[in-house]
Amino acid sequence: MKILCSVCKSNKIFFKINYNSNSKLFLNTKIYNCKICSSSFAYPVPDQDNLKRYYETQSETSIGQENAGLINKSFAYMLAKTRAKFIENNTNLKKIKSLKILEVGPGYGHLAEIIMKSFAITDYSVVEYDKKCFKKLKKIGTNVFDDINKIKKYNKYNLIIISHVLEHIANPISFLLKLKNNFLKENSFIFIDVPCEDWKYKAYVDPHLIFLNKYSFSYINKIIKTNLIKISYFGENINTINDNETNFYLRQYKKIILIFQILLNIFKKNKGNYNSIQYSLKTIFKADEESNSKSRWIRLVLKNGYN
Ligand SMILES: [Zn+2]
Repeated sequence: MKILCSVCKSNKIFFKINYNSNSKLFLNTKIYNCKICSSSFAYPVPDQDNLKRYYETQSETSIGQENAGLINKSFAYMLAKTRAKFIENNTNLKKIKSLKILEVGPGYGHLAEIIMKSFAITDYSVVEYDKKCFKKLKKIGTNVFDDINKIKKYNKYNLIIISHVLEHIANPISFLLKLKNNFLKENSFIFIDVPCEDWKYKAYVDPHLIFLNKYSFSYINKIIKTNLIKISYFGENINTINDNETNFYLRQYKKIILIFQILLNIFKKNKGNYNSIQYSLKTIFKADEESNSKSRWIRLVLKNGYN
């Protein structure tokens, strides 16, 4: 059986490593790299039913739930604020008076909450499969859909947000084309945030199915015929990240650094709209520091049209 790249469908692919997971579902899965578009991808991937069951058995798939604790929630809000800033800086959406936004996979809606406070929104719709998130999503005022096919096709949006979703999609091109063709207005934007090649530094990568870098997106942009307005790496360089959470001493070390940073930042003026904990986390994770070398996150804005 011929294996093709999940992103560009080329057959110029090379085996990299076995897929590291605790789940039996990924027992025979391997990670391959594509010479054409530079993406990496998991193959074979579990079928839809098995994946759905896998997600349902995970205790927590969305970050920052109500009882997650102060640090986890602060982390979620801090990231949301850096993402909202990126959207503001790279689109003209602040100038539009009645914005319609569609977010796919909002989790508990941290980004939705921040954006609804700082932009003039008339409709913030979300598609979320994790039912645990619905109550919070409704509370902050979003229109919740549990299935993308339930949104009417003439309902089009000024901005589609896909934050930490694309890496879970086995066929990203058809996913993006469907969103663009059915739900995006002319001269409107898609914001994407994904981890950059996290198979290189994570102990376990499940359930991520594709692993992208900047070059992958220049390829994706061409295939789906959008205009790449801005793309940047953010966060720590991936060569310096050690996310092996089984290392007890490393975890303790990180906690001490965080407490030290918080103490340092309590009296610091000019923290923008971040509180002391958020500001400290932002500093440690370099969450709003742009970089030219591969870093923890890739953020980009695509535009539908050239005007
Ligand atoms: Zn490829």
